[in-house]
Amino acid sequence: MKISRKSFFKGIAFGTVSLPFLIRAFGGKNHAQEDSAGTPNILTAKQYRWKMVTTWPPNFPIIGEACNKYAELVEKMSGGRIRIRVYGGNELVPALEAFDTVRTGGAEIGSGAAYYWAGKAPAAQFFASVPFGMNAQQLNAWIIGGGGLQLWEELYRDFNLVPMAGGNTGVQMGGWFNREINSIQDLKGLKMRIPGLGGKVLEKAGGSPVLLAGGEIYTGLERGVIDATEWLGPYHDTLMGFHDIAKYYYTPGWHEPGTMLEYFVNKETYDKLPADLQAILQTAAAWSNLWTLSQMEAKNAEALTTLLEKGVSIRRFPKELINQLRQYTNEVITDIIDNDPFSRRVYESYDSFRNKAANYSLITEKEFYDKIQKNSELDLG
Ligand code: CA
Repeated sequence: MKISRKSFFKGIAFGTVSLPFLIRAFGGKNHAQEDSAGTPNILTAKQYRWKMVTTWPPNFPIIGEACNKYAELVEKMSGGRIRIRVYGGNELVPALEAFDTVRTGGAEIGSGAAYYWAGKAPAAQFFASVPFGMNAQQLNAWIIGGGGLQLWEELYRDFNLVPMAGGNTGVQMGGWFNREINSIQDLKGLKMRIPGLGGKVLEKAGGSPVLLAGGEIYTGLERGVIDATEWLGPYHDTLMGFHDIAKYYYTPGWHEPGTMLEYFVNKETYDKLPADLQAILQTAAAWSNLWTLSQMEAKNAEALTTLLEKGVSIRRFPKELINQLRQYTNEVITDIIDNDPFSRRVYESYDSFRNKAANYSLITEKEFYDKIQKNSELDLG
């Protein structure tokens, strides 16, 4: 279809022709810019076509969906100036190359969880989750209100990235087991799919952490390749079907008490953006942070009801076992901060905030859970 210059500008005046179409009609944005003198602002507005690489399977429930919604929201808020195409893990680059891809400009934005990058920067994991660390509310409080974000930005600056808090899983579950766990001895020789620092802690208890990709866990558990697995919470775990092949569902997820999810933007690209677009990216991330945690809480609560109806046996880890794991965790963390000065700096801020938050939640949240909230008669072993 041919379009004359006259009818073209007429189209603009009546708002009937979309901007991308205009740019195509002129054969690219350079032409559009050359032709921009004296024309409405919208013609000169730079168009950004971005790629988001993620560590999640494509459209992964809630977490991958949040990335899609982030892109939609940014496009809407920017009036189409930024359009982001979202790629699941391994679609454009391998899932765990998202960080390096964005850092080096192969994509403009990524989504993951900072503990995936512990091999590049050990301090990164404190911005995602550490065993016996803070829960979602406390971690948000530290990052958004307690100095955590400044440290996170400082760490990622060296990688040419700008980090943004983008979601949280909430307290995860302790995992699915095919045998009862009554003491720390029961972890000896236990083959469990549990990644990251949780795996290191299990190792100290005499167990064997096994690394299995999401798609291999079910058959691994079914065939006895592993004796146990953790995943997320009731909603995602139910989607995986673990309740059909494992007897006991243990709580709490001591290893992931509230994992923060992130967006990270290439810093050079971010710094060149006009301030309004930077604000839009930040605002969409803040929305994603709230949306993800809210969806997690809502869907997990529903799925728990379903699991209970199916007769799944929910058990508590014994207190002595939890205390022993806490001890092992301290050893694992001491090892990290002794070997990396920046990790020590971050952990000191994290730990000091955690102690204050623990005191405050003791006189508020804990009182609420213990005395105010009406609990049903959940029978936990
Ligand atoms: Ca997990």
